[in-house]
Amino acid sequence: MKLPEYLSRELLKRYGIPFGEGKVVTSKEEAVEVAKEVGLPVVIKAQVLVGGRGKAGGVKLAYSIDEVREKADTILGMSIKGITVKKVLVARAIDIAKETYIGVVLDRARQSITVMASDEGGVDIEEVAREKPEKIYKTTIDMGLFELMPYQARQLAFKVFGEPELRKQATRIYLNLFRAFKENDATLVEINPLAVDTAGKIYACDAKVIIDDNGLYRRQELMREPEEDEVKEWEAKKYGLSYIKLDGNIGCVVNGAGLAMATMDIIKRYGGEPANFLDIGGSSSPEKVMKAMELLLEDRNVKAIWFNIFGGITRCDDVAKGIVETLSKMRVDVPIVVRLTGTNEDKALKILESANLITVRSMKEGAMKVIELAGRTK
Ligand code: GDP
Ligand code: MN
Repeated sequence: MKLPEYLSRELLKRYGIPFGEGKVVTSKEEAVEVAKEVGLPVVIKAQVLVGGRGKAGGVKLAYSIDEVREKADTILGMSIKGITVKKVLVARAIDIAKETYIGVVLDRARQSITVMASDEGGVDIEEVAREKPEKIYKTTIDMGLFELMPYQARQLAFKVFGEPELRKQATRIYLNLFRAFKENDATLVEINPLAVDTAGKIYACDAKVIIDDNGLYRRQELMREPEEDEVKEWEAKKYGLSYIKLDGNIGCVVNGAGLAMATMDIIKRYGGEPANFLDIGGSSSPEKVMKAMELLLEDRNVKAIWFNIFGGITRCDDVAKGIVETLSKMRVDVPIVVRLTGTNEDKALKILESANLITVRSMKEGAMKVIELAGRTK
């Protein structure tokens, strides 16, 4: 789960990371209030969960109260990569002399955690990695210790900064940042830019934190409201469903992430476009099937649905009953193709056939049938 900047900074402040004082607001009047409180100039920043806000015009400096009002007004309501800005952070602007980068990332390739620092901050770090890889300094965490050792932090700080005083500040910040990563089940903690101001003090001017979804059950205090485009996926999660909306017109209901991927692949292989990824998981109670259907049918693009279920521990007849029960309670205007295979498939087939559902035996047959039906449905 990505945290927006204002929550990331709240979290990192608790670990002693220095930020210019600020608050998140939803109107230009409130923006003016905050500016009066923290003092001019301020930086006004769109709070959306997408990168590159600066380039998109979502980060602006304001030197007077009139400018605060005007720029807050411009940014609020602005659309950045399709997301409407509803909140802005107003913070005392740092008088930046130099921009650097620091990030703690879960590094799957190294099966470890990598701490990355660079003296080329502020810009897109992927670009630096591509064009000047020698400008990114890395250290790998010994996962037996699961600590950023002070010497490692110092080595990084020595590469990024020249002055002893800055190296000292940076070392402390790097160590604290690592602690924030470790203690909150994060997969990413990043500050870009980590800036030096004209008085020689280091400040974080941005913050990005991603919490590992698998750790969220014990990080409830970090839970935030879903964004517009996350509402459905989050709702699905409550019912034990993994749902991701896609752009096609074939709704898929599948158990197991591997089978879900294979189902999407074969639909594409035969020229169709899946409308979603949906894994209903191991046990397939009628409630789950019902919820899955609700999710699919809310998507106006869905023109046909394919149930592709492998019965291992899950019994096919239970799923079949779930489907039939759902159809008796819900109006479904799109055709449904069902492939149930595995435990109790014969019983399942009888239930489905008596309910006049379209059944198929193989993946290929299922894909071809559902693509044909989706093409026919208006
Ligand atoms: P991003 O584009 O989403 O990464 O947004 P950032 O918060 O990193 O802001 C983009 C750029 O705006 C930074 O690289 C800085 O150059 C500039 N910026 C952000 N905060 C401040 C600030 O407090 N003072 C000054 N002078 N510039 C800032
Ligand atoms: Mn940034």
